[in-house]
Amino acid sequence: MKHDQPIYDVIISGAGPVGLFLACELALAKCQVLILEKAKSPQSPFKRLPFGIRGLSAPSIEALYRRGLLEELEIHKRLKNPHATSVQQGPRRQVGHFAGIPFHEGDIDTSLWKHRLTSSTETNLISEMEEIETVLTRRTEVLGVEIKRGFELTSFHQTEDGVIVQSGEQSFQGHWLVGCDGARSVVRKLGGFEFESTEPEFTGYSTKVDIADPEKLSPGRNLTDRGMYLQSQPGFIVIQDFDGGAFHSSEKQITLEHVQEVLRRISNTDVTINALHFATTWTDRARQATSYRNGRILLAGDAAHIHSPLGGQGLNLGLGDAMNLGWKLAATIHKKAPEGLLDTYYTERYPIGAQVLDWSRAQVTIMKPNPQARALNSIIRDLMETRDVATYMAGRVWGIFTHYDLGNAHPLVGYSVPNFEFEDGRRIGEFMRDSQGILLDFDTNTSLKTLANEYGDQVKYVSGKAKEQLGLSAVFIRPDGMIAWASDGKPDRQSIRQAASLWFTQFIS
Ligand SMILES: Cc1cc2nc3c(=O)[nH]c(=O)nc-3n(C[C@H](O)[C@H](O)[C@H](O)COP(=O)(O)OP(=O)(O)OC[C@H]3O[C@@H](n4cnc5c(N)ncnc54)[C@H](O)[C@@H]3O)c2cc1C
Repeated sequence: MKHDQPIYDVIISGAGPVGLFLACELALAKCQVLILEKAKSPQSPFKRLPFGIRGLSAPSIEALYRRGLLEELEIHKRLKNPHATSVQQGPRRQVGHFAGIPFHEGDIDTSLWKHRLTSSTETNLISEMEEIETVLTRRTEVLGVEIKRGFELTSFHQTEDGVIVQSGEQSFQGHWLVGCDGARSVVRKLGGFEFESTEPEFTGYSTKVDIADPEKLSPGRNLTDRGMYLQSQPGFIVIQDFDGGAFHSSEKQITLEHVQEVLRRISNTDVTINALHFATTWTDRARQATSYRNGRILLAGDAAHIHSPLGGQGLNLGLGDAMNLGWKLAATIHKKAPEGLLDTYYTERYPIGAQVLDWSRAQVTIMKPNPQARALNSIIRDLMETRDVATYMAGRVWGIFTHYDLGNAHPLVGYSVPNFEFEDGRRIGEFMRDSQGILLDFDTNTSLKTLANEYGDQVKYVSGKAKEQLGLSAVFIRPDGMIAWASDGKPDRQSIRQAASLWFTQFIS
């Protein structure tokens, strides 16, 4: 190690969406960040449409909006419907699915989601991996994050006050290391993390092929008595082969002959593939690290949890990890964190990850090619036509119900703050770009302003009447937009201080 080398606050392994977003959060909070990325180039056909398609759920949309990044994503403006395989409009517009069973816009009763304002941000949007990474990379550059591409993290060791990271012959020094290096995370493997697992049922294939006789395949998603195939656009085929994940685990090369054999067997046709342009495999193996921290090593995104892409939640889960971890790690680095703040990253995010893993397991169960699964599938299909079930499914898929258990002082505590609109047209989300806590005071009570000042630059005071206040008088919002405290009546300053003490350090008392 050369003596003139910088010591970074945080080294992040992996410039995927989670590593990039975490870097933005840390740099916003004035941390010095280095990202080491194994790949020389960020480009890949699997990051572009149609395979690179990613559904963003409400918490991700809010996170990007709150940091002024949402407006830079363009693709959702031209592709309104992430899940439909046919172009439908109106109340029957398909807006999501569970195990391939669609739910429709007109069946969803959003009035049941009381903590979401009707005028709030969108609940679901479509985007593309490449675009998300491009927008995030641009922001990291503005914020001064250093990204070294073509630098694979190969090993590391922690000392009492830092981490020395090795990329081949080169060393880098940081105070913290975060593994955002995806499903096969080296940081997780070398960092002594346990990775609990349920085994896969199938190998999934994403392929681009030329088909000699495409009329032999049906369009859209097809459950057959041997598996599933989906043709979203001509030549773009996704297949699920219930082989217990054997082919994926074998790490054999994916040949044209193999894809043709699998497609013929699953589709029950003698379809012929003329050319295989690209192909990748995946499984429904579900695994989650039993801890997200080991000393100065942390995990986020796919490095901490993997599951099948069914229902598309992995990216959303990872962005949620980054939004939760960034400000807590920054406060720890700047010595502004109350005791135990960093531990709440795991206690809050692990249960959310576990729910997503279960959601994907439940879908696999009713997709299996056996009579029992088909029977249950048909019942869920009927139930999906009801308003209650469609609303529940949308709430789960879009992350509307996401909340942290922060005690039950007020029903809104632990939920994402509604995007209150003030009388001058500004919204509370616009005040969150710098990642400070906010004491939102609808009654312009000067004593609350004094109280906010007790936390220095960690907390900002915002006051004014909102068009819809949901009966609230004041709200304390964490930097990640989650409600830490709320009051319907006259605010009790002591209860605010008590709630704030979990998240911020008081400088004046
Ligand atoms: C077919 C498919 C469809 C999907 N659809 C959706 C969807 O609609 N919605 C959704 O939310 N999710 C979806 N997902 C899941 C989503 O893509 C992942 O959860 C997400 O990409 C995870 O982001 P990440 O940054 O944690 O990991 P990755 O995106 O895997 O990024 C990890 C990065 O780390 C780098 N890296 C790896 N090892 C090292 C190393 N040793 N040193 C340095 N760098 C390293 C890699 O090169 C990579 O750039 C889908 C996944 C698949 C496969």
